[in-house]
Amino acid sequence: MTPGQHDYCTWYERTYSKLSHHGLWLRGGEINTLPPCDMAGRSFKILVTRLSTYEDTAESFTHLLLYRLAAETPGVFPDLAYLPPPKDAAIMSKDKVPWLLGTQTKLGPPAFDVVAFSNSTVLELLNIPPMLRASAVALSRRERLEHEDMPLVILGGANAVSSQLAWLGGASAWVDGVFLGEDPAEIQKLFSLMRDLRSGGAGKPETLSELARRVDGFFDATEPRAVRTAARFISTAASTRGIPVPHFPGRAGHGQIQISEGCAHSCSFCAESWHRKPYTEKPASEILKEALEIKASLGLWRAEVFSFNFNAHKEFAVIAEGLGRLFGRVSLKSQRMDLLAAAPRLFELERSLGKSSFTFGVEGISRRLRKHLGKELDDEALAKCLSLALTRGTRELKIFLIATGHENDADYPELDALAGSVRDLLARAGRGGARVIFSMTPLVRFAWTPLEFEDAPAPETVSRVLSRSRTVVERAGFEFRAAASVHDYAVSQVIARAPDASVSAAASAALDDTGFVFYRSVSAEFFRAFTGHLGSAWPGVLTAGNARPWQALNLGIKEEVIRHRYARPQHL
Ligand code: SF4
Repeated sequence: MTPGQHDYCTWYERTYSKLSHHGLWLRGGEINTLPPCDMAGRSFKILVTRLSTYEDTAESFTHLLLYRLAAETPGVFPDLAYLPPPKDAAIMSKDKVPWLLGTQTKLGPPAFDVVAFSNSTVLELLNIPPMLRASAVALSRRERLEHEDMPLVILGGANAVSSQLAWLGGASAWVDGVFLGEDPAEIQKLFSLMRDLRSGGAGKPETLSELARRVDGFFDATEPRAVRTAARFISTAASTRGIPVPHFPGRAGHGQIQISEGCAHSCSFCAESWHRKPYTEKPASEILKEALEIKASLGLWRAEVFSFNFNAHKEFAVIAEGLGRLFGRVSLKSQRMDLLAAAPRLFELERSLGKSSFTFGVEGISRRLRKHLGKELDDEALAKCLSLALTRGTRELKIFLIATGHENDADYPELDALAGSVRDLLARAGRGGARVIFSMTPLVRFAWTPLEFEDAPAPETVSRVLSRSRTVVERAGFEFRAAASVHDYAVSQVIARAPDASVSAAASAALDDTGFVFYRSVSAEFFRAFTGHLGSAWPGVLTAGNARPWQALNLGIKEEVIRHRYARPQHL
């Protein structure tokens, strides 16, 4: 530790019992983390930071993989930081402890050369200003670059493609540079180049421009440019082995097995699919070999199959049977309904692995809306899947719906009919039938998807769709959940297609006015302040005719392809 770096170990020892879960999230010392004393022997320090809490990111492993990649880079010392839970954030602010606090070293930003934000959702971006401010790091790029004692601030992660809120401000940008992509070799190149440049005496601006010149996927926040970001398949064994194991007892012994990357389908709203092309499958033989390896090295008893649609994998039956032999429990999440309807024997296989709760992505509430969303699901397949799930001992069925804002009087009777057929099937199944939940998400139109070119509805319209759908579902006797509020929807939509720096300025001012920090939902107070600061741009900023600053990034998705796809008959 050098002079000026404050060590908060004593504060932690004095305070941990008052923190959430007795300060477990800030304790450090997870399996596979470096001991703090290693810091002295490594010249370049990186604070890998999540914009959500430790608990909320317990299921994610990208930041843990980043940590491991940094730890494996010679001369680099990583630490991990998280958004403090609300109660702890208040205690830390009162005690003047920075929110950007290394969980291993209990050191704040001056001890690090780089803060690397790992960003997974658009709403998380709102936490950059409060986290920087609560850690005495300047919010504007210009000021950070002027102060050598402040770390560089870079951003990457699954949402980096939609992170323009953080880099649109030019000299006032919230971050200094952005990395798009997931290639471990490229990430390590980024870390080692930063180490060499900074230890060789390069200033911050020079470091940023060299990184942009030499690292695929990296750009200086003031100069967005075409970057190569081919999504790479991350091998299960290589990615899981040696990553830190979070202190959550319930998660011990669980591990993810990735079987494919991206999705073979192209629903017009789906950023995950459009941003992660081409779809790639890993051969069953490799998956099972790696599964055995990580079972042996990590002592796993439960495998969670990670894939956008597990039943789309050509060798799914072989994989499922193989994993079933290796692990005490195999969790399977999302699957395509049309594929399940076409191969119902897979249902029995899933049941034999202990799967008793199912989620079905029906998406649009009517045929017309499903067609608009590019959802290939006909009535026959829908009926077949419902019949399979509801007449064979399923414990819980979640039906996912999307509120597009286009719903009209002709659509709701179809939702009513869907709920009615679920009720009939349950009645036929007799006592002890499944718990059925209809969950509806307001549609956010993302850049680099066909629906990028569609105007987004006003929050009032979305609110009416949610409320009318709720009435239909509850009248049929089922639970209805709105997966996001209209405020979440509206703020996400504005951020996801932010046309210029005025949106960042409005967000920053609204955060200042309200002291808002995003945990799981957007407050009405923040929404009012944000739209107030947008001024005359609100609600016009919801339309699609605005500027497209993300165009400069050129992700490899051809604009004419998504435009053409959007221009196809709209079925509306
Ligand atoms: S919604 Fe599902 S099926 Fe459609 S493109 Fe996305 S991941 Fe694939």
